[in-house]
Amino acid sequence: MNPIPVEHTPHSRLSTIDFNNLGFGNHISDHMLVADYKDGKWQEPKIVPYGDLALSPAMLSLHYGQSIFEGMKAFKNKNEELVIFRPQRHHQRILKSMERMCMPPMSEEYFIHSLNAIIKVDEAWVPTSEGASLYLRPFVFATESKLGVKISDEYKFIILTSPVGPYFAKPVRVKVEDHFVRAAEGGTGFAKCAGNYGGAFYPTQLAKEQGFDQVLWTDARDHQYIDESGAMNVMFVLNGKLITPQLTSAILDGITRNSLLSLAGKLSIPVEERKVSVAEIKEGFEKGLLTEAFGVGTAAVVSTIAAINIAGQEFTLPAVDTNSIQLRLKKKLEDIRHGYEPDEFGWVYKIPN
Ligand SMILES: *Cc1c(COP(=O)(O)O)cnc(C)c1O
Repeated sequence: MNPIPVEHTPHSRLSTIDFNNLGFGNHISDHMLVADYKDGKWQEPKIVPYGDLALSPAMLSLHYGQSIFEGMKAFKNKNEELVIFRPQRHHQRILKSMERMCMPPMSEEYFIHSLNAIIKVDEAWVPTSEGASLYLRPFVFATESKLGVKISDEYKFIILTSPVGPYFAKPVRVKVEDHFVRAAEGGTGFAKCAGNYGGAFYPTQLAKEQGFDQVLWTDARDHQYIDESGAMNVMFVLNGKLITPQLTSAILDGITRNSLLSLAGKLSIPVEERKVSVAEIKEGFEKGLLTEAFGVGTAAVVSTIAAINIAGQEFTLPAVDTNSIQLRLKKKLEDIRHGYEPDEFGWVYKIPN
């Protein structure tokens, strides 16, 4: 592909950022990558200063919801090389989201070349402190301006980047959701589309008003089986085994989930991907066999669940220590990303110079 043209910002904001106190998603780097789809093809991307866009209020994504995104991380490894974690798999997933939302696909080369270019332009924004990273947010939305219901013929592909600090999520209290639904089989749950989030806010807000941090989504038909936790996949340690709901069309195929399952194999932890019923989780608590529960996703890697509320009954989990499976898995993943452990699975992509 051709080199991507860059319009540099005359006013870098880099010096205003406190890299010791980043948090998550609070800062957006100096530049963004923007590309248009029109006349039946993805046009050449360009990199411009991050800023507002002029868009039609009749653009189709605002009205009919064709809007998808990805979330991934870039790092400086221990040898000061710029790397991205599993960009090829993120590309495969964006293709699935695009297909489900009737959006035109883009090649892996186009996607990764774009990521490489924006990361290199804002390389100085990649944090180097332990546990920190550059969060990458590629997204695509319909831009054709038309009020009638139709599949858009025009789109924008944008990549924003954000330096993020180590994410020490405090242990969360969750509620098994037995009324509302995030996604039904046959719907859009497996796609990373904006509407899934829009629809999840209200039940989550109600759960928060009841004193919970998150909901555990269950299957849309009977609310009997666990799907996900908030916007993360969920894992349990039951009787010494790592158990996670098997993927359905209502569950997002998380790359953290996929990676941690492979790493569990390496650590000789028995893994089961299968339906996980609410009844079995309850029984696991009652028999003292359920020892861990945690959400898994790019932002936090693992987010400890401290308590689960099932139909009004509260069950608490033991405190986590460094021998717990979730922290062992998290450490292994971080060590591979930063080059402290060999990358046996070929997950760490080095950005070419
Ligand atoms: C993004 C996302 C996840 C986690 O996926 P990762 O690839 O591990 O970040 C899980 N569930 C939902 C609903 C998501 O949107």
